[in-house]
Amino acid sequence: MKIIMLGAPGAGKGTQAKKIAEKYSIPHISTGDIFRANIKNGTELGKKAKTYMDQGLLVPDELVVDLVIDRFAQDDCANGYVLDGFPRTIPQAEALDAALAKINEKIDYAINVEVPDENIIKRMSGRRACVSCGATYHLEHIPPKKEGICDTCGAELILRDDDKPETVQKRLNVYHEQTQPLIDYYTSKNVLKEVDGTVDMAEVFAAIVKVLGE
Ligand code: ADP
Ligand code: AMP
Repeated sequence: MKIIMLGAPGAGKGTQAKKIAEKYSIPHISTGDIFRANIKNGTELGKKAKTYMDQGLLVPDELVVDLVIDRFAQDDCANGYVLDGFPRTIPQAEALDAALAKINEKIDYAINVEVPDENIIKRMSGRRACVSCGATYHLEHIPPKKEGICDTCGAELILRDDDKPETVQKRLNVYHEQTQPLIDYYTSKNVLKEVDGTVDMAEVFAAIVKVLGE
């Protein structure tokens, strides 16, 4: 099963993608996590990506596309994957389709997690991310057991630079301009499924499972 998660930054794509990956035993591929790991490890790719990410801009398509296509050629993707944060532009979606067409495959579902902009700003300011393992929490909705400390690995939790309110507004503008057109793109391919992302996380997941089948 090959799944794409669509939605604004902070809509809950990562939260739901992790649950989908676990339930259906497929890898969760997050381009944001891949870039953050590269930044942490000080790679050339990380240095390049950081200049865009810190400003709330998208990393150029040419730095993203090959990275994802190489990733899903790996053995653990044989039964599919859930892509989170990719594609984010029409050229990325076209490159993905072209790469899949070469191996006679296609995307099965594009799940759009719908959340209005007003809710997003509130959510992002409450998001806390682990500096070490990338786990995410929310101060109100999923607080860590011990304030400021990751439940999973014990490292420090931080507010991501790109989750600061002024950057979030910019990311939302970028989303509406460059990523939202993907909704029409996948509708025309008959794979788009909409879920309400404003409800409780468990309810969002139940709606997704209904779409994907048990
Ligand atoms: P995305 O991957 O789309 O950027 P995340 O999955 O990281 O978004 O979610 C953004 C923030 O909102 C996180 O702090 C997360 O814990 C919280 N969150 C996710 N889903 C919900 C929900 N259904 N209701 C309330 N908060 C949520
Ligand atoms: P995310 O964790 O998915 O919110 O991504 C964080 C940031 O990484 C984004 O704001 C972009 O700067 C960058 N990024 C992640 N995925 C992509 C992508 N597919 N195309 C371009 N930039 C991306």
